[in-house]
Amino acid sequence: MFDALYLEKTDAGFTAKRRSMADDELTAATPDADVTLRVEYSALNYKDALALTNRSPVVRRWPMVPGIDGAGVVEESSHAGFAKGDRVILNGWGVGETHWGCLAQRARLRGDWLVAMPTALDSRRAMSIGTAGYTAMLCVMMLERQGVAPDQGEVLVTGAAGGVGSVAIALLAKLGFRVVASTGRAAEEAYLRELGAAEIVDRATLSAPGKPLQKERWAGVVDAVGSHTLANACAQTRYRGTVAACGLAQGMDFPATVAPFILRGVRLIGVDSVMCPIEDRRAAWTRLANELDREALDRITQVVGLDDALRVAPEMLAGHVRGRTAVDVNR
Ligand code: NDP
Repeated sequence: MFDALYLEKTDAGFTAKRRSMADDELTAATPDADVTLRVEYSALNYKDALALTNRSPVVRRWPMVPGIDGAGVVEESSHAGFAKGDRVILNGWGVGETHWGCLAQRARLRGDWLVAMPTALDSRRAMSIGTAGYTAMLCVMMLERQGVAPDQGEVLVTGAAGGVGSVAIALLAKLGFRVVASTGRAAEEAYLRELGAAEIVDRATLSAPGKPLQKERWAGVVDAVGSHTLANACAQTRYRGTVAACGLAQGMDFPATVAPFILRGVRLIGVDSVMCPIEDRRAAWTRLANELDREALDRITQVVGLDDALRVAPEMLAGHVRGRTAVDVNR
């Protein structure tokens, strides 16, 4: 038996609870899995918060064990790439959405989805990074692939005090960029500066409708917010600059014009972590292990237990959670 969070939809409505579960139930629900993982840590991401509160249709199969992220030790494997005792990381691939996830002490997964844990990381730190941090690294890699470099100008990070934003600031500052952090939480200025932000802007300056072309400022942008914020970020991006768009905290809409793209050659790059190819994942995790400052990571992370995840989820959607939330599934 093991403990898991369990989401159910019945005639009585939606329920989310912690319950104990038999291994047979997990095996029956995951017939295509070839690796059994003893999960040590999971994480609470924005998407997990949506699933735990049933706020948007993240879960597409019921009942569901949530948790899009997991890290732990392989207990059993018939996959050629992994053996008992290996430490691994799982992010995305529909886990916690269509396949039972990692907000549980045990998970059954496909070996093709797993990344070997870099030696410099452990399960707690890997889940302190989680999908949000790995997505931040994918955004940084996208900017670099388009040739964005510190000598070309400032980089804007939106949703700065959230999970993606906090890790993006730490990574970009370490790489030598002048990072400008956009936040709605003025009280977090000291936190953002400690992570490496050189300047803080009030997110209200970006979140209202703006002109199609504005004063050129950003060499690059990491946007976790979408909507008018993304449109304004594009309108303020310098000639041939790059905007990496990964989130929708303000909204899914994109009320923009093509002006920045056709008149300034601005590049808008979409970043998806869920189905991202394994080579990019391995590259991102290797870089996160080597480049993300451990102290910064510990500073941005709160560790909670399985039950706490249910309590923290609505706070996260209300924008009240700072940085990252790792989940100790044995607590
Ligand atoms: P968090 O909840 O940790 O952070 C989101 C941040 O966005 C908040 O902290 C807040 O920052 C800002 N924000 C919240 N509401 C608004 C609003 N109405 N207008 C403007 N800004 C707002 O989430 P994550 O950082 O984990 O994720 C951020 C986004 O990225 C989410 O939309 C998530 O779904 C998406 N995402 C996408 C992935 C992908 O594969 N493409 C992977 C991971 C995340 P502040 O308080 O500083 O203003």
